[in-house]
Amino acid sequence: MYWAKLQATTIRERVFDALNKNLNYNTELILGLPGTYLDQGQFYNFPFLKEAAFLSVLVNNPNHIGCHTYSEGEKYFSGTQQLEIDLLRICAVEILGAEESGYDGYVAPGGTEANIQAQWMYRNYFMQNENAKAKEIGVIFSEDAHYSVYKGSNLLGIHPITVKVEHDTREILLDDLNKKLEEAYNKGIRYLIIHLSMGTTIFGSVDSPEPVLKLVKQYFKHYFVHVDAAFGGFIYPFSSQKKDLSFENPEISSITIDGHKMLQSPYGTGVFLCRKSLIEYVQTPEASYVYGSDFTLCGSRSGANAISMWMILMTHGSEGWSRIIQELIDRADYLCNALNEMGIKYYRNPDMNIITIDANEISEGIAEKYYLVADNYLKPQWRKVVVMAHVKKEMIDLFLLDLKKEREVLISK
Ligand SMILES: *Cc1c(COP(=O)(O)O)cnc(C)c1O
Repeated sequence: MYWAKLQATTIRERVFDALNKNLNYNTELILGLPGTYLDQGQFYNFPFLKEAAFLSVLVNNPNHIGCHTYSEGEKYFSGTQQLEIDLLRICAVEILGAEESGYDGYVAPGGTEANIQAQWMYRNYFMQNENAKAKEIGVIFSEDAHYSVYKGSNLLGIHPITVKVEHDTREILLDDLNKKLEEAYNKGIRYLIIHLSMGTTIFGSVDSPEPVLKLVKQYFKHYFVHVDAAFGGFIYPFSSQKKDLSFENPEISSITIDGHKMLQSPYGTGVFLCRKSLIEYVQTPEASYVYGSDFTLCGSRSGANAISMWMILMTHGSEGWSRIIQELIDRADYLCNALNEMGIKYYRNPDMNIITIDANEISEGIAEKYYLVADNYLKPQWRKVVVMAHVKKEMIDLFLLDLKKEREVLISK
């Protein structure tokens, strides 16, 4: 994995160069484009924009509609689209092990859309190539998977199939998987979308594809595997040696990776990636006025989102980003060691930065004071700490001190 770090001034120049290759509403004779010249009462050319590359793109408002790894897209905004293409290459090839030019993708509004896009694509593939009916298609996932899998299956009219996990290890229970596969097959389901997680939202747990696929193959001939790395995609590939959820594994056909979780980019930065020869199944040929056609769920989308991710990746380079992740992992280790000493029960994948503490081990007061998110806010069983950039050692120490005090009071009673 390697991409170079760039100086702040170089990043700014590259973004402004890209912007200059886009169409400019202020200087050109644009009669036909509705694509939006922002309201000038609010978004005029503030003097400070000259310094602020991302905000300049936001105000310039390029439309990145379409899928630029597949076709050229609206030529009006080809400058900034080129940076999106570069961003997608880093995500797909450098981080997730795809072959050069072996993938398609786009910057989606978020992980939810990217997950739905995957289900939509596979559903259409099964319907068009295998003559499948929607009711013969299922999507299978662990009970810790993100709730967007339910949204997608609801929208697309396909069956959601939830598999239980072991309470302490959060691993998919193979007995339950076997049972659910058999039930699905007996119900007439013949086509399967396997939704695996690289970092679940509450636990940071990471699914193992191998045992799951071994069982699936006993029942199903037709399946695709989608990996939801919305949360883990900018951590796990940097902290773990394992590649079985990346494109290096030929079983994996698509991946969601969000910028607006771990990469600290603004909302609107989910990334959808899939292998070549799949995105065609979600092409909307009726989008005839869109140059290059449309392959996405959302349609129009701001180029500024892609630029924000690109700028962050260029600021750190692969080495810098690896160091940042290592620091987070070290800090998570530090917290876990302290919890071990206190005998507090928790779940953590050692290559992730989420520590999910048994709700019985911690008072509601502390959970509220430190904004720990519960798995179920009505009936919490677990509460999580996410060690992100702003969670410094000092903050962890305060939390540990409070925990210790609380336990001393409990023990002395
Ligand atoms: C946050 C998250 C999503 C959904 O992402 P949005 O960007 O909120 O749509 C999907 N999957 C996982 C694992 C997530 O953590």
